[in-house]
Amino acid sequence: MKNLVKNFLIIFTVFLLMAAFFSLWSGNGQKTEPVGLETLISQINKGEVSKIIIVGNEIRVSLKSGKSEVVKKEAGDTFSQIIKNYNVDPNKLAGLLVEVQDNQGLDYWLAAILPFLIPFLLISVFIYFMMRSVQGANSRAMMFGQSQAKETGQEFKGKVTFKDVAGAKEAKEELSEVVEFLKNPKKFSELGARTPRGVLLLGSPGTGKTLLARAVAGEAGVPFFSISGSEFVEMFVGVGASRVRDLFRKAKKSAPCIIFIDEIDAVGRRRGAGLGGSHDEREQTLNQILVEMDGFDPNTNIIVIAATNRPDVLDPALLRPGRFDRRVILDEPDLADREAILKVHSKKKPLGKEVSLKRVAERTPGFTGADLANLLNEAAILAAMKNKKIIDLEEIFSSIEKVMLGPERKSRILSDKEKKITAYHEAGHAIVAHFLPHTDPVQKVSIIARGQAGGYTLKLPLEDKHMYSKSEYVEEIAVLVAGYIAEQEIFGEVTTGATSDLRRATALARKLVTDFGMSESLGPRTFGEKEEIIFLGREIHEQRDYSEKVAEQIDKEISSFIDKAGHQAKGLIKAEHDFLEKVVAELIVKETLEKEEFEKIVGEKKKEE
Ligand code: ADP
Ligand code: MG
Ligand code: ZN
Repeated sequence: MKNLVKNFLIIFTVFLLMAAFFSLWSGNGQKTEPVGLETLISQINKGEVSKIIIVGNEIRVSLKSGKSEVVKKEAGDTFSQIIKNYNVDPNKLAGLLVEVQDNQGLDYWLAAILPFLIPFLLISVFIYFMMRSVQGANSRAMMFGQSQAKETGQEFKGKVTFKDVAGAKEAKEELSEVVEFLKNPKKFSELGARTPRGVLLLGSPGTGKTLLARAVAGEAGVPFFSISGSEFVEMFVGVGASRVRDLFRKAKKSAPCIIFIDEIDAVGRRRGAGLGGSHDEREQTLNQILVEMDGFDPNTNIIVIAATNRPDVLDPALLRPGRFDRRVILDEPDLADREAILKVHSKKKPLGKEVSLKRVAERTPGFTGADLANLLNEAAILAAMKNKKIIDLEEIFSSIEKVMLGPERKSRILSDKEKKITAYHEAGHAIVAHFLPHTDPVQKVSIIARGQAGGYTLKLPLEDKHMYSKSEYVEEIAVLVAGYIAEQEIFGEVTTGATSDLRRATALARKLVTDFGMSESLGPRTFGEKEEIIFLGREIHEQRDYSEKVAEQIDKEISSFIDKAGHQAKGLIKAEHDFLEKVVAELIVKETLEKEEFEKIVGEKKKEE
């Protein structure tokens, strides 16, 4: 856009300069006065005229006094006819020089051509810019059949390697086999081994799938063709398939190489499951991928790596041996991995001496690699905004909360009444979380608005956890409803501030019943089969595999879980009322209590295992 404006300005100035130049030039520097025919005739009759030059429809007159004039005549009339018509004295003409010039001057031609040329030029400039911007937007209207795969092999050769991928040890081990094959295919073929064809990287968003695929190419030193599944899906049926063909053709030319299909679930969804127009197109594209993968000659050194976070929706045909038969799972990083990832991303960032990446890793359970990278970036920005030269723990910690909960909204001013209600609400969460035996310790309580929340209570587990027990979940629900209960206990009524707590509590209770089999009366089974259907966008559709009567029972169980949790919370808030009041008083003064300040009031957390 900026370029466009700049170019336009340049063209505009050039035109201005041209116009100025021509007006000067055609004037020849001396003044010519336009006059009427009658004036000219009378001047001739008086004998004042020394010379007449006729150029087209112009009569240029030089007077004896040295002045010059221009007279326009009609196109059809010649000068001699005019003279005749006006009955000019022939004697007066005798001494007069009359010259006729052809219209061959440059200015005449320009004047004739420019009116046609300028619009033409403008239109071509316009079309040129249109074409350029269309191409820039990556949607080459004229060549949509060709794959958009960006071959980044040359740039990336040796740039991203396994060293840049922290943690993910198992994944790297599995993929080192692929690297070996790309580097040294003979070793395998001599033993008659069928080499891997496709590798599927599975993992939630931000766990480093794209990064790892790049690293494989970097380690092996081969070109890397990357395309995203969604790029295959177009309005025009057949385009996706032709892109696949084109991609594989390009790749075959530069084998050994890696083809990386990001977000393959966009095309690799179970066939026959979708509705709507894009569905046929997807199937054709998917078929073409399968055909291409089957059609490799066994000695072609191309490895297809695909990434997805939805392995459950993939077409079984994709997972068959000979296709994506290797599966590499990228887990969310554990404590040690998080520390390693932080180390990788803090390389170019000057950290303060007291910053311990281990402590940061401890505070960030559930963060993916992308979250951690983002966190350090936020911290660096924050430090820069404070004109600091190094990043301190302070910035990192406030970035953690920003990444988790959204930015602080200090500008949202609470009235005293609102402030009091928020303080009781958050203190309710915090007290219940503190005194229940299975919950995680409270890290921070705050009544400063953040993102959507009016205030927040932050609890963090002491270690990474992969399994949760029923009592932990029930207590979790109790903590969630504690804000609501506290408001009810103190003020006798509740506010809208508890809405999202209640929604989360209900969703969790439903999961306990329908997914985790934690309801005693309904027993160890799951309810409902969730599947995704594609129809005018995405929606999750739950198919009922139970009767109306059971549905009623499920509802009852959900309510009973929430009721029980509510009772538990209420009991604690009543029993620990003194602590609640003290925390509220502190909160109203300080607005934010860190773990140490909170535990100074309520004592250390006693946690049961
Ligand atoms: P995905 O493709 O799984 O959604 P990406 O590979 O795009 O995730 O990761 C996004 C970013 O997160 C990467 O560019 C990198 O900066 C960071 N990242 C993720 N995992 C790791 C890791 N294991 N080590 C280092 N950085 C990582
Ligand atoms: Mg990705
Ligand atoms: Zn709340």
